[in-house]
Parts: sequence; structure tokens; C-alpha cells
Amino acid sequence: MSDPGSANHKPVVSIVKCDNYESISVSKAIRSSIDGLGGILQFVKPGNRVFVKINLLMGSKPEEAVTTHPAVIKAVIEILEEAGCKVIVGDSPGGPASKGRLERAYKKSGVTQALEGTNAELYMGLGGIRTPYPNGKLIKSFEILDIVPKVDKIITLPKLKTHMLTGFTGATKICYGFVPGMAKATYHSTLPDPDDFSDMLLDLTQLINPTLAIMDGVVGMEGKGPSGGEPKKAGAIIASTSAPALDIIATNLVGLDPKDLPILRNAISRKLVSGKLSDIEIVGDKLDTFPFIKFEPAVRKKKGGMRIPRPLRRFLVKRYMNKPVPSKNKCIGCGDCMRACPRECIQIIDKLAVMDYEKCIRCFCCHELCPERAIDIK
Ligand code: SF4
Ligand code: SF4
Repeated sequence: MSDPGSANHKPVVSIVKCDNYESISVSKAIRSSIDGLGGILQFVKPGNRVFVKINLLMGSKPEEAVTTHPAVIKAVIEILEEAGCKVIVGDSPGGPASKGRLERAYKKSGVTQALEGTNAELYMGLGGIRTPYPNGKLIKSFEILDIVPKVDKIITLPKLKTHMLTGFTGATKICYGFVPGMAKATYHSTLPDPDDFSDMLLDLTQLINPTLAIMDGVVGMEGKGPSGGEPKKAGAIIASTSAPALDIIATNLVGLDPKDLPILRNAISRKLVSGKLSDIEIVGDKLDTFPFIKFEPAVRKKKGGMRIPRPLRRFLVKRYMNKPVPSKNKCIGCGDCMRACPRECIQIIDKLAVMDYEKCIRCFCCHELCPERAIDIK
């Protein structure tokens, strides 16, 4: 694990059209995207143990576009197994961790089924190990999944989605899944400001330093992502060794401005990527040959709300930020939001989630993890 390159060398991003999840189309597009970067043997060697880190979030049906599509997972496993690798597939979803919950999430998302006919294993670990990262800008040591030091390579499979807290979830944000289960809540609680949270994510991505990211941008999510938005076709598989460069291309493809997205805004100010398309070598299909696509952004501010200066945000968050509001008709009182809330400010009263808005830090974990999509942002 070492620091990835800076904006001084030109990162390469491979983008290939793919407009459906039929296995032949997906496999062809992924193979082509990897070939654009020099072929799979540039990244792995026969005999390598490779952890394929998917976007599982909480477990959701593939057509809801919350999780990495099983067709993408299967295609990547097949490519790695053909290259002679031992593949382990997994994630650590948000909320309290348990084997049963993890198993249900893998099944519901079609991940278990994607492994059928392959020799890949599902990662069922729940534990973390404390790992120092002295080069971190904000965080100097992380608790990360115990699988990380046990594999030779890590390949991430992010989904192209908007995100209520960080604006966008892609090749950088997927690394948050390397923080096990409820340990994630600590960062939400201590870093409620999206810019600080994004700096932590950039530190974590540098620590993990995945060998390669292959984004499922066939159908992404717009609006109130990463789970409460609407599926929308973007028609692309995008691959790169540089997470921020991949995210710049993906956001450009769907009409999101990096300046509005804390992760990319911070990546640019930290010179991990320049933010200019001309500073990225794009291979595969030309960007201007994709149809015009505009994703609805995830909006955290109240209508008409201004951008609040950073030092004042923690004091004004309640006034200017939207809040999570459970629906009486949809909430079943399951308590998942209550268990995931980093501020312990949700109670279940008469089978309805009730928030204490004075304590709420607007992290939107409850909205993100509600299995009934019962929490709106208003
Ligand atoms: S809001 Fe969602 S997660 Fe919370 S109790 Fe209701 S159904 Fe469960
Ligand atoms: S109520 Fe929801 S948005 Fe507020 S702190 Fe808890 S999880 Fe975060």
C-alpha cells in the first residue's frame, strides 16, 4: 500500500460503451476497458489472491441500481480466473455487522448467484485491523477490513451514483467499505462536514491504493443516492488505476460538476487530479460519442440555501440543510436506521422512526440504509 501518483503524471482512463447487462455485452465491455489499459496481466499475475471489492451498501435488488450489478461481478471474476488468480469477492455494508446480515445482502443483490460456476469465494469477515497511515492529510491511522493484508491485489467495482453527503459515490467513495461495519459511524460522527469527510475518504483511498477500479456505469443512480435515488442509464464501463481520474470522467459523462462534489473538489485541491479532461488520457470510446446524459444531483441544501462558509457550517447545518423525514406510510419500525445512526438520535415509537433534529448531523446514513426507502430528505 503506497501513495498513488499525483497530477504530475497523466492518468489513463478507459471508457467503453455498454448499454445493457446481458452477460455477453458486459463481458465484452469490461475486457475491452481493461485491454485499453494494457490488459489484465498488467495488473495481476497468475497465482495472485485478488480481493474484488464490490458496492453492496445494504443489499438491494440489482434493478434498483444501488449495488454493483452481478453481471459485472461475474465478468470480472471470469477475467481474473482466466489470468490464474484466486478471487475473493466482498464488501462490508453499512450498519451493524453480522454474518447473517452479510449473507442476506449478498443474496438479495445477486452476488451469491454471480459466483455460481466460478471458483471465487465470498468474503464473510467482519473484523478490522488498525493500520497506520502517517501520510494522511486528516487521518493518520484507519481500522480496515482484515482481508486487506491477506491479498496480493485489490480491484474495486464502484457503481456510478449520486450521494447525499459527498455528492457522488464512485471509485473514491467505494473505499469507505474497507472500514468495517459500525466503525464507519465514528467517522460520520467526528467528521460531519462533507469536506472533512471527503478528505478522510481521500486519505483512505490512498492507504488502500487499489490496483484497478472498474466502474459499473451501465445503469447508475441520480438524485437522492446512494440508495434513495432513481436508476438512470449512463451506458458505460469505466476503468482506471486512478480513482480520482476515473471519477472525473464518470461525473463528466453524467453532467455533474466536480466543483459541486466535495470528494472531487478536495481531490483537485490536493492535486491528486487536476480536474481538467485535457490532463487525463482517455482511451476506448470517445466521450463525445456518448449520448447527452444529465444526472439529477443529490442536493443537501434547502432550496435557495447558499453555500455556507466552512467554519460556520457546524453551527448553521440545522438551519440550511435538509433533514431526514421518515414516512408514516412506509416505515415498518425495523430499527435499522436507529442502529446505524452515529449520533444515536433515532427512536422507534409506535413502529415509526422518530429523529431528534437537534442532535442530527445530517449525515443521511439513515436515509442510505433504510431497506424500505421510507426516509425522504426534505
Ligand atoms: S425508517 Fe426505515 S430503517 Fe428506520 S425504522 Fe423505518 S423502515 Fe426501518
Ligand atoms: S438521524 Fe439520520 S441524518 Fe441524522 S445523524 Fe442520525 S443517521 Fe445521520
